[in-house]
Amino acid sequence: MSTLADNICAIASRIDSAARAAGRDPASVQLLAVSKTKPASAIREAYAAGLRDVGENYLQEALTKQQALSDLPLIWHFIGPIQSNKTKAIAEHFDWVHSVDRLKIAQRLSEQRPANMAPLNICLQVNVSGEASKSGCAPAELPALAKAVSALPGLRLRGLMAIPEPTEERSEQEAAFATLHQLQQQLELGLDTLSMGMSHDLEAAVAQGATWVRIGTALFGARDYGQP
Ligand SMILES: *Cc1c(COP(=O)(O)O)cnc(C)c1O
Repeated sequence: MSTLADNICAIASRIDSAARAAGRDPASVQLLAVSKTKPASAIREAYAAGLRDVGENYLQEALTKQQALSDLPLIWHFIGPIQSNKTKAIAEHFDWVHSVDRLKIAQRLSEQRPANMAPLNICLQVNVSGEASKSGCAPAELPALAKAVSALPGLRLRGLMAIPEPTEERSEQEAAFATLHQLQQQLELGLDTLSMGMSHDLEAAVAQGATWVRIGTALFGARDYGQP
């Protein structure tokens, strides 16, 4: 069985090779540790091994872990679907949100961001795989959404996020990530962030400009949804 430290090394080496192959500085790619379904103790271990950024999908689960880990200076990222009634707690308890895909949610996050906190870092989630995926705004809606979100005072629009339809075909993986990169550049808003790439497709994402790769399985092992 591999330890968490071994897994971090293996991921760092995958990022390193992919970045070098693409002529990129490996340091321009950051690792977001996706810890959904994993216990707070796993995050504590990841912190001890040097990780600082943690991604969670479910609000209640995240809040429980944040409480258990309040002694650590972790940076918390919300990466799951967002319901309106969850925006207040998300605005109060996270540093980043990667999964904003409509204006109403962005407006609520902005209004509910406490005045004594820095603006909430935002990525707009885009549906780059057409009908196959339910989450994310349509590429055609993105320019208007990005413009409106960039004007909200409680938020800082940083970039785009996508979860393309899973495929083992490297060229298809790269095509989806290239689309997201292109959309980001077409916005001409000076955005510095592309949140794309997971355990199975991080090489393709890094090749196409990812600045955050969101890694769960390759870091913490397979998730067991059967556990209570
Ligand atoms: C679960 C999840 C990940 C991590 O996926 P792995 O395949 O386990 O690396 C990344 N991003 C989002 C939005 C997720 O929900």
